[in-house]
Amino acid sequence: MTPEQPNKEIQQLIQQQINLPSPPTIAVKILNTVQNNKEFSLNDLEKIISADPALTGKMLQIANSAFYSLPNKVSNITRAMSILGTNVIKNIALSFVITKELRRNTTSYFDFDHFWRRSVTTAVAAELVKNLIQKKDDDIFVTALLQDLGFLILCLSKGKEYDELLIACRSDRSTSLIKLEQQEYQFDHQQISYTLIHDWKLPPSITEPVRYHHEPEKAPGQYRQTAEILSIADLLSTIYYGTETSENVLLLQNQMETLFGMDKQQTNELLDDVAQKSIDIMGIFDLNPGQMKPYSQMLQEANDELGRLNLSYEQLVMALKESKNKSEKFANDLRTANEQLEELAFRDGLTNLYNHRYFQEILEKEIRRAQRYKNDLSLILFDIDYFKAINDNYGHPAGDQVLATLAKQILTAIRPSDIVARYGGEEFAVILPETRESGLRVFAERLRRCVLGITTIVDNREIKVTISSGAVHCSPDHGEITKQTLIDTADRALYMSKENGRNRVTILPLPPKL
Ligand code: GH3
Ligand code: MG
Ligand code: MG
Repeated sequence: MTPEQPNKEIQQLIQQQINLPSPPTIAVKILNTVQNNKEFSLNDLEKIISADPALTGKMLQIANSAFYSLPNKVSNITRAMSILGTNVIKNIALSFVITKELRRNTTSYFDFDHFWRRSVTTAVAAELVKNLIQKKDDDIFVTALLQDLGFLILCLSKGKEYDELLIACRSDRSTSLIKLEQQEYQFDHQQISYTLIHDWKLPPSITEPVRYHHEPEKAPGQYRQTAEILSIADLLSTIYYGTETSENVLLLQNQMETLFGMDKQQTNELLDDVAQKSIDIMGIFDLNPGQMKPYSQMLQEANDELGRLNLSYEQLVMALKESKNKSEKFANDLRTANEQLEELAFRDGLTNLYNHRYFQEILEKEIRRAQRYKNDLSLILFDIDYFKAINDNYGHPAGDQVLATLAKQILTAIRPSDIVARYGGEEFAVILPETRESGLRVFAERLRRCVLGITTIVDNREIKVTISSGAVHCSPDHGEITKQTLIDTADRALYMSKENGRNRVTILPLPPKL
């Protein structure tokens, strides 16, 4: 199959199924002029374009755009032609007339504007790649612009059926669109594009690269590089109009390196340039560029958004930590408060010693423990001597102060395992676990002497008191005893201390078992 002889079978197949649009009249005129009368084409082309004021305006806008970066503005077609050349002007004119023609028939299901936005981007991309690799090719813009005309024609001819094929292509990434088209119709959209523009008598420099834009490796040598540019331009467009953007950027970087030896930096700059120039050119084609923005800006915005998300994530974590700390602190406070409350229930308000109720409870427990582990247990009850006289002489509040001071001092004299309680008004009890009679005697005496050394100062007057103690010791081999027996015995001993002159210790044995 030689380039100039299209596959007749495929052409017939296409023509049987697809109604190919005829070329815009003005396009035919332009092409005829350029092809038939090369010497006078400049003048004739100028006449054709100038006859259409809208087209003239567009031509000048393009000539003055950033695309050609001319040193001075051009204000007429003659000047534009002499600077940019007949071929460029012809191609720009063709681009406008064909785009205009194929946007006319509007259908509900085909988005013409989207199609042409994408095609203009592809055309801009092809032009920029061409410039980057310093290839001389005046036709590249219009070639890239028309390469996917077959796609538009298929959409219009096959309607819903082709839609389904596109959906299938999107869900099965392993199969390319042209393969699916071949399976379904025995031809593909690049062949339709080719057949159409070949019918319109566009030159082979345009038609041949279009014929191979999805498979440049199959293109005849002289058209291969242009077909490669078209393929790259399509990929560049896909980055801006398709999904899987980052994968396609990687693919683009690889292909730009393999095909044209361009590094990442150059490719990234190209990618941004495509968006910037496309936005300009789309305006001239009366297309709204919409949300289009350079890839680096898209990345930046995505990163910013990610940063914001991360930040709010961090803030969330911090807030969670804070509330966790708060609830932990709250739980701790609650525990402490409960413990304090419990303590309060066990303690006597004036002396802060264990109260009578708790003394009863703890004595019961200590008796059981001593019996279970075969330990000694001792108990002291002591009572302040002549306390009534203290109240009488110094007042009741002074008496209270004496009780408080005594309690505080006694606490410093005992072991942590000993338990001191306020048994009654000015009567106290000390439970001494694991304490034998000898130890009990020593402790009781020490306690008595400790009290002798305590002075309470009220209104600059020193108050001193003595105590009388009654104690009882219970050895492990005594067998079962009751709390009441223990208390009664200690009480009897205390009474004896009082009887015997006070400020003394009396220890009584437990009564013999009956
Ligand atoms: P003794 O024990 O040596 O026989 O003489 P006493 O004067 O200490 O004995 P008594 O039982 O007759 O008096 C105890 C006094 O202790 C009577 C009561 O007013 C006083 N008292 C009891 N509880 C408190 C208290 O909480 N604060 C004050 N200030 N006095 C108290
Ligand atoms: Mg007393
Ligand atoms: Mg008393």
